Amino acid sequence: MAEVEHVIIIGSGPAGWTAAIYAARAALQPLLFEGAVNEKNAQQGTLPLGQLALTTEVENFPGFPPGDLSAFLETSLPEDRRGYLPPHGKHGVSGPELMELMRAQAVHFGTRVITEDVTSVDFSGRPFRLHASNGKEYQAQAVIVATGARANYLGLPSEDRFKNRGVSACAVCDGALPRFRNQPVAVIGGGDSAVEEATYLTHHAAKVYLVHRRDALRASKIMAQRAADNPKIEIVWNRVVDEVLGDDENGVTGIRLKSTVGEADLTLDVRGVFLAIGHTPNTDFLQGQLELTEKGYVKWVRPFRTHTSVEGVFAAGDVGDDYYRQAVTAAASGCMAALDAERWLAAQGS
Ligand code: NAP
Repeated sequence: MAEVEHVIIIGSGPAGWTAAIYAARAALQPLLFEGAVNEKNAQQGTLPLGQLALTTEVENFPGFPPGDLSAFLETSLPEDRRGYLPPHGKHGVSGPELMELMRAQAVHFGTRVITEDVTSVDFSGRPFRLHASNGKEYQAQAVIVATGARANYLGLPSEDRFKNRGVSACAVCDGALPRFRNQPVAVIGGGDSAVEEATYLTHHAAKVYLVHRRDALRASKIMAQRAADNPKIEIVWNRVVDEVLGDDENGVTGIRLKSTVGEADLTLDVRGVFLAIGHTPNTDFLQGQLELTEKGYVKWVRPFRTHTSVEGVFAAGDVGDDYYRQAVTAAASGCMAALDAERWLAAQGS
């Protein structure tokens, strides 16, 4: 029989590692599934360390002003983990570095990490049972789900080629990078996120094309008006991206757009392409065991708490949040989930 853990944490983004740091310091000896390293996870952007590991500089996580972290990275990360990291850019912290630092902190306090996916769960009775991609079953008294969400991409090979070299799914993360400053960029999508990202980008870029596949935005009226009123935003109606153009030296240099209403192709000279076509929460493995929102995110059932529809199962980070979606908000809710789990376990007498 599998040993029954106090708490199992599923997910290795900021929410998962923060939950682990708090749970470990509360002597709960957490076991954390960071995800498997395999082709499927690489393809869909769900490798260990989450969405931040797919970004470059992180300029909005408190505590990391510009500066050279080389010595800190060398002294705080084990040598075998430093080898994975892209060279340090001497500008502050990068997404992969930040995630490695969080992982190291969680491991330092005694978190045990398993590099596998949780493929299915049984929350119908306690202890909860989890099945992993290594074929083993694990049991826990409490579970924290922190599997995050993945940005939707268009699925074009040219888009893939220029990821992190002009193609991004997060304007707030990447929009202020020198590559985009005073350059024309494009945002793809017609929802509130697309308008928000386009508006944000006007602070840095010379001009922002908002490319939408229909002739009306999905965004709320007030947001749509904001886009229409902004002199730096030009809405390009009835168009979808056919190809991201660029070269190895410069990254993205343009996009070729197909018309959805039978007009000729259009090429825009842009240095950035920001996808804002929605996110997909990583909840497939839950297979109906937790109540989800109508958009498929895990439902928090109490205001300002991380409890889910199953007592003893908590959720943190983007898997339950389609609104803020920031590293720091995910980390904060990871802390909350660990505290909620600790108090719940104490109330159970365990
Ligand atoms: P969303 O509302 O689902 O909008 C996604 C947009 O992407 C839609 O315009 C959709 O086009 C387009 N799209 C989807 N797949 C596409 C594809 N393959 N090619 C081209 N275009 C594609 O997603 P969201 O904007 O991320 O918003 C998610 C939720 O968060 C919404 O409820 C939104 O209100 C909320 N939110 C609120 C705020 C705010 O209030 N400040 C900010 C951000 C998000 P169609 O319109 O043709 O379907």
